[in-house]
Amino acid sequence: MPNIDTSLMLSMTEAVKEAEKIAIATHLHPDGDAIGSSVGLMHYLESLGKEVSVVLNDRYPDSLAFIARKGIKNISVCEEEPERTSGLVIGSDLIFCLDMNSFGRAEKLEEPLKKAGCRKILIDHHLHPETEAFDIVFSKTDISSTSELLYYILLSTPDINGDPGKLPAATAEALMAGMTTDTNNFSNSVYPSTFGMASQLLAAGVDRDAIIDSLYTNYRETRFRLMGMLLKDRMTITPWGTAYMIINKDIAAEYDIKEGETEGFVNMPLGIRKVRMSFLLKEEDDRFRVSVRSKKGISANRCAAEFFNGGGHEQAAGGKLIKGRDLSAEPDIAEVAEYVEKCTYRFFNEKI
Ligand code: 5GP
Ligand code: MN
Repeated sequence: MPNIDTSLMLSMTEAVKEAEKIAIATHLHPDGDAIGSSVGLMHYLESLGKEVSVVLNDRYPDSLAFIARKGIKNISVCEEEPERTSGLVIGSDLIFCLDMNSFGRAEKLEEPLKKAGCRKILIDHHLHPETEAFDIVFSKTDISSTSELLYYILLSTPDINGDPGKLPAATAEALMAGMTTDTNNFSNSVYPSTFGMASQLLAAGVDRDAIIDSLYTNYRETRFRLMGMLLKDRMTITPWGTAYMIINKDIAAEYDIKEGETEGFVNMPLGIRKVRMSFLLKEEDDRFRVSVRSKKGISANRCAAEFFNGGGHEQAAGGKLIKGRDLSAEPDIAEVAEYVEKCTYRFFNEKI
């Protein structure tokens, strides 16, 4: 079990005890870990009689709806209800920020989070957390996921007291799902404590088969059609071991691709021996969203921070290229490809 600081636990328990209304925020484009940890914490805090809201910048993909289903009434999305969602942040007595290392990662909720006068607690596993913005910081980078970190924090509370059987069933399920997605179903960022958590939650009755079924056997066909096309026709591999695939709006429209449906694509080229770092770039209104993955010994985090306005973890990071700043106002695929090639050539050859 990872070491959870006792004095931080005391401060958190006190803060929760004193609060009535609690908001839980996470990063934009929420993934399985963001939703799993937020919804997991929400069910736990509800079991203590708190009024809890999960506040999101944008809605989670359909593939994660099974995690949120029992708490759907407590979830508020800024892109859908801006005033209500910011109001929930500003009006709360306590805020948890999960799976994000700075307020900026919550995009439209950044300002309300800064403005809120209440105490703020960070629970996160990313590199370089903005610790000064928070009153209580649980930050651990050598852990699979925020869901795992939260699992061990909840086990350390006086009421759960080390017994996972005392967690609300919906919390146990959400945390198992969050950890499963962030480890890519136990293929990366796995520690002894990760298997410990999985083993304990299985023993406590979590239905892992159902989680795997919901996560990995429920995609729409379009995802696989696009995956095939990209791997066949659109995956470029440079002589210095960078693989990249670019999805512009035309391709996304042609294949009717929705948020979350390209999850995992970026990992695939890393299976090729000569590939050292892999990129997936997806066009949005004002930017290209960038996903970066690297093999051990190569820092996806440093590359994302240096060239793509982002960061994350050593082997899995992300960022963005802003149109009109990093790229021309109306960049085409060739321009984006040139940017990636130039930057990664420098990254590998100038040892940035
Ligand atoms: P993904 O490629 O799956 O979107 O993100 C991989 C990792 O990088 C995640 O841990 C995510 O939180 C982080 N990440 C993605 N985009 C950004 C970004 O723009 N800035 C920072 N700091 N981290 C990011
Ligand atoms: Mn995470």
